[in-house]
Amino acid sequence: MARISINLKSAKVRKRSNIIIGIDLGTTNSLVAYMKDGQPTAVRSKDGQRTLVPSIVHISENNQVVVGDEAKNDLIHSPERTIYSVKRLMGKSYTDLEEKKSMFAYEILDEDEDKLVKVKLGMRYFSPIELSAEILKALKQRIEDELDAEVTKAVITVPAYFNDTQRQATRDAGKLAGLDVLRIVNEPTAASLAYGVGVDRQLDEVVAVYDLGGGTFDVSILDIQDGVFEVLATNGDTFLGGDDLDKAILDHWMTEYEGIFTSNNLQVARLLAEEAKKHLSFNDTFKGAFEGHEIQLERNIYENLIRPLVQRTIDCCANAMKDAGLSAKDINKVIMVGGSTRVPLVQEMVSAYFGQQVSCELDPDEVVALGAAVQADVLAGNQKDVLLIDVTPLSLGIETIGGLMDTIIPRNSKVPINAGRNYTTSVDGQTNLKVSVFQGERDLVEHNRKLGEFILKGIPPMPAGIPKIEIHFILDADGILRVKAMETRSGTEQEIEIRSQYGVSEEEMALMLLESIKNAETDMKKRAVLEAKVEAKNIILSAKKFLKQNLSILTEEEIQNTKLLTLQLQSTVEGEDKDLINQAMEQLNKYTNPLAHRALDHNIATAMKGKKL
Ligand code: AMP
Repeated sequence: MARISINLKSAKVRKRSNIIIGIDLGTTNSLVAYMKDGQPTAVRSKDGQRTLVPSIVHISENNQVVVGDEAKNDLIHSPERTIYSVKRLMGKSYTDLEEKKSMFAYEILDEDEDKLVKVKLGMRYFSPIELSAEILKALKQRIEDELDAEVTKAVITVPAYFNDTQRQATRDAGKLAGLDVLRIVNEPTAASLAYGVGVDRQLDEVVAVYDLGGGTFDVSILDIQDGVFEVLATNGDTFLGGDDLDKAILDHWMTEYEGIFTSNNLQVARLLAEEAKKHLSFNDTFKGAFEGHEIQLERNIYENLIRPLVQRTIDCCANAMKDAGLSAKDINKVIMVGGSTRVPLVQEMVSAYFGQQVSCELDPDEVVALGAAVQADVLAGNQKDVLLIDVTPLSLGIETIGGLMDTIIPRNSKVPINAGRNYTTSVDGQTNLKVSVFQGERDLVEHNRKLGEFILKGIPPMPAGIPKIEIHFILDADGILRVKAMETRSGTEQEIEIRSQYGVSEEEMALMLLESIKNAETDMKKRAVLEAKVEAKNIILSAKKFLKQNLSILTEEEIQNTKLLTLQLQSTVEGEDKDLINQAMEQLNKYTNPLAHRALDHNIATAMKGKKL
């Protein structure tokens, strides 16, 4: 069924596409990619020139928002209204940023120091989430223009070291841009996927992802087994990147060509330094002009200038490897990410450190977005043979008698997973069994989230406790849960499918976990009371049944005492005192035990009467 949506602003009628897009929301540049004719493809600007959208947002005097290349010039002309590197602020409070404040040209609001930071642009304050949403809107627009259809679903990448607040902030930015963020993916995971790592489930691999961007460096060591990506270690420097290479060149020129650089032309000079750097990635000499002067830089001089900076990234790699407890020979592949990995010296030094040729065949600026598109395509169900890569965020289980949660798949289990457990009936002659499926960490199902329920019908009537009912949870890699119930004696079977993956937002999830920790003690007490009650009710039923079947062999006193103790137990079940219930159960058990033995002897004797051995 095709959906039609109407953009109220332009009154344009657009189809809605089912494509899930992959977005790399970067510090310096962002881009969007999707699966086009079976290939992950980054979307270009209208003129077909560039896939990168600079992560720059300008708010004009009349509050118009300008994003990307068009906002680049504003960095020079009105820096106080133009923000770059907003990713550095995501999920951060003023206190987190105080030390680095001087590095930003824009003003950071310091009113409420522990709340998430806001940025002043012109007369208005913006949260980093709002500003990131503007970048995401521009990317959404770009792909909608390409497809001539509305897109609403996305996968967005974040650095592996992002904490929950930063991930949540990224998700919120997506929401604000009108995107349903199906998954937040680690950038190194996406980069690996783009290189096909993890696609063949037979291979166990350890990869190093080396990511040197415009302003940040990070390295991640990933262990990929059976389609599961595990981050073994990350390291890096959040203020080391291509900008520092530019600065090294500029510092060199400032001593070499004294007097031509002033505070007024510094920004333009910086752009020239970047141009020289890019040129020297493919040539031995750079020649340019600045303020009427000829300017030059040789590759060998440039490499000496930047060697200490590259060495710092190698030191980070060594630290990450140490944390992961690995040595260079354990690494199967080194994947290069970020525009600055085009620098030949970077490739050389990283290859030398890891003792192998690095993987840099894909465009290092696009590789993360391309991997995000692969992940998106898997989520869309288009790559049946690829398995991804998750753990269940919350436990999954069923309701057992007394409203208790019985966990079948514990939280943080790697998916796909198949787990099962046996149950039985609690009432004689029971022919139906309701299976209610829940998600959450609390002991009582009423505090967890119900995912669905079904009734296993047609159990042959048997005494309570005799039927053997197997319940199986099969959670596949896309988060789809199938629950199967089967009575094994009769073969009666029933099954439902539940999509649990997107049912709970990360926020709800965090809340549910928090609640479960806060309430662990009271939950445990409640569980103990409920369990005692269930046991007591079973004993009461058995005692009544026993009296009815054995009246003839019991004395009047025994009958009365058993009735009295049963009544006493009954009254404790009405209350909430676990110890009283247990005491009353013990008394009844103690008293009826010898009677039960006598009844058994009697029954055997009757059965054997007249039979000769
Ligand atoms: P990213 O944050 O990954 O988009 O990286 C952008 C950085 O890559 C900027 O510092 C660019 O100057 C740098 N960059 C892009 N192309 C090249 C190149 N050919 N040689 C060296 N650095 C480059």
